[in-house]
Amino acid sequence: MKSNFSGAELTFLGTSSGAPSFTRNVSSVALRLENEVWLFDCGEATQHQLMRSKLKYAKITRIFITHMHGDHIFGLPGLICAISGARTAHSRSYGGSVVPLHIIGPPGIRQFIYSSITWSRSVLGMPLIVTELRQPARASGGSPAAHTEQLPIWTAYNDGNFCVRASVLRHPVPCFGYVIDECDASGRLDAEKCVEMGLPPGREYAMLKAGQSVTTKDGRVIRPEDVIGTPRPGRRLVHLGDTCDSSSMVSLAQGADSLIHESTFEAKKVSEALYKGHSTARMAGKFAAQVNARALILTHFSNRYAGGLSA
Ligand SMILES: [Zn+2]
Ligand SMILES: [Zn+2]
Repeated sequence: MKSNFSGAELTFLGTSSGAPSFTRNVSSVALRLENEVWLFDCGEATQHQLMRSKLKYAKITRIFITHMHGDHIFGLPGLICAISGARTAHSRSYGGSVVPLHIIGPPGIRQFIYSSITWSRSVLGMPLIVTELRQPARASGGSPAAHTEQLPIWTAYNDGNFCVRASVLRHPVPCFGYVIDECDASGRLDAEKCVEMGLPPGREYAMLKAGQSVTTKDGRVIRPEDVIGTPRPGRRLVHLGDTCDSSSMVSLAQGADSLIHESTFEAKKVSEALYKGHSTARMAGKFAAQVNARALILTHFSNRYAGGLSA
């Protein structure tokens, strides 16, 4: 697997809030990495949207769910079965073990999935691993933390290349925002400088990248720090679920390279947005400024805004 976002691509499979419209499906975003695809939310008919994209079911390895509202999860049971079918077919054709599917989400997601799979008598041909992000037990009796208190941060995934952390947003039901960080990359090797110093391309370049000094044919010692630049900081993608207050994520989302934020309503409908636990475009913009995001992508539009794009 590639260790960073280079070549990564986001596909918005659904950008409508609540219910689909003729021009938009309900929430789902796909993040295509080098050799796998992650989904964020899986509204009804996400399968149809995937069929219209170039993404392959068999490549989906992880689905992160923000919250249990139907417009974010009603597509899960069918898609799980479709991924299972694609995985087993792939394994039959090319051999190798069947890759598991991981689903990460709030409490309740496990029962929702297992009930759907069990009662529809579906048989899965792949391991399905469901992880619920649960509030740690509190000494004072276990009630959830007030929004103003320090909220817990979960590490939802970490493979040394990517780290996904989650925290809670304000919405009528428990709802997560996910922050996906790629690890810092080592500095680039300056090949031109190597040649100038008498070291043509060869296996010594790999040794330098691995932190070893090398000696040229004429006896000159080249140290890694002579030809390798400073480490490049990893990039940050932030995907927030439904929210009328994202302030709990300010420090976690700081410096986001791309921020995906809901924008159910236009700015003048702020009272309705707050009442329903959602954001306006202006609220999303304010949060983006607060975290110094380099790019803000709005989604989850009320279907009163028809729009001209089909996603
Ligand atoms: Zn929603
Ligand atoms: Zn919601």
